[in-house]
Amino acid sequence: MAEILVLAEHADGEVKKVTYELITLARRFGEPAVVWTGPGAEEGQPGCAEFGAARVYVAGDTRFDDYVVTPTAELLAQLVREKAPALVLVAGTAEGKEIAARLAIKTGSGLLTDAVDLTPGPDGSPVAEQSIFGGATIVHSRVTRGTPIVAMRPHAVAPEPAPAAAELSPVSMEENFAGAKITGRVVAERGERPDLTEATIVVSGGRGTGGAEGFGIIEQLADALGAAVGASRAVTDAGWYPHQFQVGQTGKTVSPQLYMAIGISGAIQHRAGMQTSKTIVAINKDPEAPIFELADFGVVGDLFKVVPQLLDEIAKRK
Ligand SMILES: Cc1cc2nc3c(=O)[nH]c(=O)nc-3n(C[C@H](O)[C@H](O)[C@H](O)COP(=O)(O)OP(=O)(O)OC[C@H]3O[C@@H](n4cnc5c(N)ncnc54)[C@H](O)[C@@H]3O)c2cc1C
Repeated sequence: MAEILVLAEHADGEVKKVTYELITLARRFGEPAVVWTGPGAEEGQPGCAEFGAARVYVAGDTRFDDYVVTPTAELLAQLVREKAPALVLVAGTAEGKEIAARLAIKTGSGLLTDAVDLTPGPDGSPVAEQSIFGGATIVHSRVTRGTPIVAMRPHAVAPEPAPAAAELSPVSMEENFAGAKITGRVVAERGERPDLTEATIVVSGGRGTGGAEGFGIIEQLADALGAAVGASRAVTDAGWYPHQFQVGQTGKTVSPQLYMAIGISGAIQHRAGMQTSKTIVAINKDPEAPIFELADFGVVGDLFKVVPQLLDEIAKRK
């Protein structure tokens, strides 16, 4: 069976959930083989095994932590040459996409980014589903040259366990480490809430919250649900909430299991960042608001009346 290379995303000894999603997806096409860079593979191995990795290629050189994308792209290119995999899967994060682009150049292969699904075509080769033009169009595309490389959006598939050996297999790099070197790190200030792009639930607020103070109700609901907080551009431009939480075309792209749009009209630029969410709930006082065209569930009402009732209900169930 052909091998499918999956680049592991991990930080501080923890495997990111998207890695398990990619391993689950890889099983549709062949035998998943995880590529692990830097230290920590022993700690990460049980998780990779649980979701079906047959093998974990470990390039344990500690210098991977000191360089940005170049050595990882070089390592993947080396493995593509040596192992001739049928497919390479990376997470569609900023870093993942940069690695994928470099790998595509190095191996003369085609690359598909921001895929929201990947299924075998009639000849078994992977066909990616992408949501483009701000989500107005769904396209299906296939790589026709080299080894298919696909950057999948996080949360595109649910991880499903299927235990396998995840045998650790050391790999040494042919090339020296080169390219841009990391000279310092600043840890972004983060509270207890999950990361916006990785959260299973995102609660987003819009101009309907009326101001920074009114936006507090969005944070309350997010905390009650263990969710990340998002915001529309109207909110971030007005300075009611920091820009890094903006969801949309010029903000973050999210695809959680549950997205709650509260006091958000649903402009095309906002939709571009959230419409691949699995379930969308909208609360808006205007029954004609475009967000309702997209929502799976909608409540027409004043958010300052609806959200407190929702908070009461959640509190009763805890
Ligand atoms: C190039 C470009 C890029 C852009 N990128 C982004 C982007 O990345 N992300 C983004 O979000 N926008 C983006 N925008 C802006 C976008 O076009 C919209 O202006 C913006 O999304 C509107 O934000 P909003 O829905 O919060 O505000 P509005 O459109 O003003 O909607 C507010 C909504 O709240 C409702 N409301 C008001 N009061 C209440 C209440 N008490 N209870 C319930 N509902 C209430 C109203 O009925 C209304 O539907 C971009 C625009 C351009 C031109």
